[in-house]
Amino acid sequence: MRKIQMVDLQTQYQQIKKEIDGGIQEVIDSAAFVKGKKVTDFAGHLQSYTGAKHVIPVGNGTDALQIALMALGLQRGDEVITPTFTFIATAEVVALLGLTPVVVDVDWDTMNMDTDAVRRAITPRTKAIVPVHLFGQCADMETLLQIARENNLYVVEDACQAIGAKYTFRDGHTAQAGTMGEIGCTSFFPSKNLGCYGDGGALFTNDDALAARIQAIANHGMVVRYHHDMVGVNSRLDTIQAAVLDAKLPHLDEYTAARQKAAAYYDSAFRDNENLLVPARAPYSTHVYHQYTLRLSGRIAPFRSDIQARLAEKGIPAMIYYPVPLHLQKAYQDPRYRAGDFPVAERLANCVLSLPMHTCLDEEQLAYITHNVLQIVESCKG
Ligand SMILES: *Cc1c(COP(=O)(O)O)cnc(C)c1O
Repeated sequence: MRKIQMVDLQTQYQQIKKEIDGGIQEVIDSAAFVKGKKVTDFAGHLQSYTGAKHVIPVGNGTDALQIALMALGLQRGDEVITPTFTFIATAEVVALLGLTPVVVDVDWDTMNMDTDAVRRAITPRTKAIVPVHLFGQCADMETLLQIARENNLYVVEDACQAIGAKYTFRDGHTAQAGTMGEIGCTSFFPSKNLGCYGDGGALFTNDDALAARIQAIANHGMVVRYHHDMVGVNSRLDTIQAAVLDAKLPHLDEYTAARQKAAAYYDSAFRDNENLLVPARAPYSTHVYHQYTLRLSGRIAPFRSDIQARLAEKGIPAMIYYPVPLHLQKAYQDPRYRAGDFPVAERLANCVLSLPMHTCLDEEQLAYITHNVLQIVESCKG
């Protein structure tokens, strides 16, 4: 059996080696390492794939989030609502820009932003909502967009884990993760669903004026060469990374299908186990399984690190995304929040366990993983 990894990028590379190597070689031959043709090619292909009117590639997903908030012209002290159960980058950029992060709890089933909590968190200073499509399933965008319209707020989607996820609105129309709010952000970090071989990210928008601002901010605030109309940053996707992404994008749907197949295997193995809660499926979104995250029952959650250690002994990695919600992080301590304020996020932080999830898991590996998970869980109940 092949070694089991959380993410297996080596096996994936072997399957597309020719395309990847060819793309990288072309860049080296052209010596256009920054702003080369592959960057615009890839942006164009991703535009057709996502249906976004504009795709602006940048250096990474965190930069994308930061540039999004800068482009919206938010001012010091403006409040930005984010879920407390997410990767730190979502709130980090808010704090970095001198904006005020306002965190809200998440829904127990979808693990995404609780929309009622968002309504309650709105104040006269609220300017934007940043929903995270956590683990690859879209947050309840229809409700969030409605709340945003009613309160005149921007929506910036953190779609770093959800590229390719499809949202279905009640009237039947569909849209991809990252293309529904004013701006969407994604990451091409190697382990993401569409990952490059280094850092990368992109912003999506359907608004021409915002696209122009984003483009300028990502390039030192420059509109006409050496004329700087606003304070910007330097954030670009380098051409070699664009070549990798352009080679991988045509495979994204098959990669998503492989993840969904592995998730279905896990689901059927664990669904009837009273101590394992499989990921809940929202009716409005497909799930692209950036992570396959189990919730352990109250009975076995206290044994989580023991379960993790025993899986590791069997050669099965398992990770905790995320062990500490934002409001309990040392750097984000805030007199407004204390332990117990966001009970769902705090409970999730104590009971989630993510299993290996990538595009090359085979049946033998899945059988081995599920067998061992069930056996270990069974033996720690007593
Ligand atoms: C990965 C990730 C980011 C940051 O992306 P980088 O490319 O690593 O900067 C932001 N938000 C979420 C939810 C992520 O998973």
